[in-house]
Amino acid sequence: MDMTTGENLASESGTRSFRPQPHSLDSVLHQLHSKYQFLQSGNLATYIPELAKMDPNWFSICVMTTDGKLFEVGDSRQLFTIQSISKVFVHGLALEDHGRDRVLSKVGVEPTGDAFNAIILDEQSKRPYNPMVNAGAIATTSLIKGKGATERLNRLLEMFERYIGHETFIDMPTFMSERTTGHRNRAMAHLMLNFGMIDEKIDEALDLYFQQCSLMVNCCDLATMAATLANRGQNPLTGTQAVPACYVRDMLSVMYACGMYNYSGEWAYRVGLPAKSGVSGGVIVVVPGRMGIGIFSPPLDERSNSVRGVKVCEDLSQLLGLHLFNCAETEG
Ligand code: GLN
Repeated sequence: MDMTTGENLASESGTRSFRPQPHSLDSVLHQLHSKYQFLQSGNLATYIPELAKMDPNWFSICVMTTDGKLFEVGDSRQLFTIQSISKVFVHGLALEDHGRDRVLSKVGVEPTGDAFNAIILDEQSKRPYNPMVNAGAIATTSLIKGKGATERLNRLLEMFERYIGHETFIDMPTFMSERTTGHRNRAMAHLMLNFGMIDEKIDEALDLYFQQCSLMVNCCDLATMAATLANRGQNPLTGTQAVPACYVRDMLSVMYACGMYNYSGEWAYRVGLPAKSGVSGGVIVVVPGRMGIGIFSPPLDERSNSVRGVKVCEDLSQLLGLHLFNCAETEG
């Protein structure tokens, strides 16, 4: 056991479990922040011009427990656009709007092993592979109910606010930047229209997708959103049920298999927790029943995951014994 982490308790079944003690969790987060603060590898995403303007030194780690205690270190109140992390929550709303079977008929749940923006569909079914890659996310977004573009956008914003616990907004420059440069996403939408996977209103679906990616959050918000999923869909701060509890399992399963792009398999192996990253450098991690973790650091590795984000999560999982399949007294 690493003594710096405090309470690493043996449970009745003999497995290791960590009960976060306020001072010890706080000191672990500070240690990890100091350890990786000066790590300089990785690059900012530049294909969306607005993202290239971020400061590569921004770095924060936040944890919220399922009883609503918040731990934060670094630039935890710095706003940034949520990007692909939004896909998790829009998937939840699509499930709520249509149920499992209909969503599954339009978007699969298989990891791709390809980059998040690959222009591919499943050969047989013509479905996009999963809701965490761009094609699948655009198809998922196109399922959101509403009488017109404004009602759909309002429903999305209200949904995000249930997870975050306060009002939020769309960053217009990022939205416009995505809209004018999103040619790959447009190509995917046309391909899916060709196969009848999304309906004809593709411009509306793409705009809504670009808007969801341009939602402004800070790292504490990410931790709150993750903690809401860890807490069976109920926001630990406000008590609001953000999504019916029955769909949290679906959301977490897809995150586990597909959330870290084409690093998802290795992530599952090393970290062992459902997670989702985005190209602005955010990562959310869910420890079911216990806590939500948010990390923000813009420089990305070659698979578009936050470099510091991945390192912090690997360490946190190891230090706190968080891997879902941990069963040994000591880890190798
Ligand atoms: N808005 C980005 C895109 O569509 C989101 C991608 C991401 O975070 N991986 O390319």
